[in-house]
Amino acid sequence: MTAARPVIIAGNWKMHTTPADAGELATTIARRVGEVDVVRVICPPFVCLAAVGDALAGTGVAVGAQNVHHELAGAYTGEVSAPMLVSLASWVILGHSERRRDAGETDELIGRKLGRAIEVGLRPILCVGEQLAERDAGQAPNVVQAQLHGALEGRDAGALLDAGLVIAYEPVWAIGTGRNAQGSDAAGMADTIRTVLASIGFGERSEEVPILYGGSVTAANIPEFLAEPSIDGALVGGASLKPDEMAGIVGRAGVTARARRQAGALGAPSGS
Ligand code: PEP
Repeated sequence: MTAARPVIIAGNWKMHTTPADAGELATTIARRVGEVDVVRVICPPFVCLAAVGDALAGTGVAVGAQNVHHELAGAYTGEVSAPMLVSLASWVILGHSERRRDAGETDELIGRKLGRAIEVGLRPILCVGEQLAERDAGQAPNVVQAQLHGALEGRDAGALLDAGLVIAYEPVWAIGTGRNAQGSDAAGMADTIRTVLASIGFGERSEEVPILYGGSVTAANIPEFLAEPSIDGALVGGASLKPDEMAGIVGRAGVTARARRQAGALGAPSGS
């Protein structure tokens, strides 16, 4: 039986915007995307969280951070902990490939961050995905499987489910390159991800975990991903800074949500 999962569109602003302009951009995006049956999240840089939170108050669009430290407090200069974030954000992106690349984040470290996030009630989006050489070598499923094992194995699956764990499948070669995966590639990987989750303690409840696709998503290509029943939305980078693109992406997600709801395959649009 297909589990009822919400449709989710999360925007990752990466290292763009300043506290002076982020609020206005968030307001414009929230107005353009409107009220739809889609969980909508904007993840600005840390220093813009307050401005974006103020701008999005009452809009139904949630605020997320792009990272969190793996300890709750301590001598970690320049870092931001989960307790610091809870009044500013309700979601957090973890294990983004740009942090794996630039900050050397390992699966084990990402797992610890995940633990901290759910400890304080932040809803985690765990990013996984293979490099191009790994895909070309036919290793993509093995790479993603290892990432999931490294971050999640031994953790309390029930607690992760209660926290609303979301997985974003983001093939690294598709991020910021303008080269997106095929919908069928993403759907195949979503099946692999749920199989791995089932094997590490999630059991049948792996069907409850929303899986997003990320990698050069635009308003033009989002229908290809949302046409796949195993894909529950998108983690959007570059296009999330463009109100017209976000309106198109979320609008299309709203159409999918309506169709899935009519088919009885959609969960409550909780999480905002
Ligand atoms: C991302 O930042 O997670 C991402 C998918 O970026 P882009 O959409 O720009 O490829």
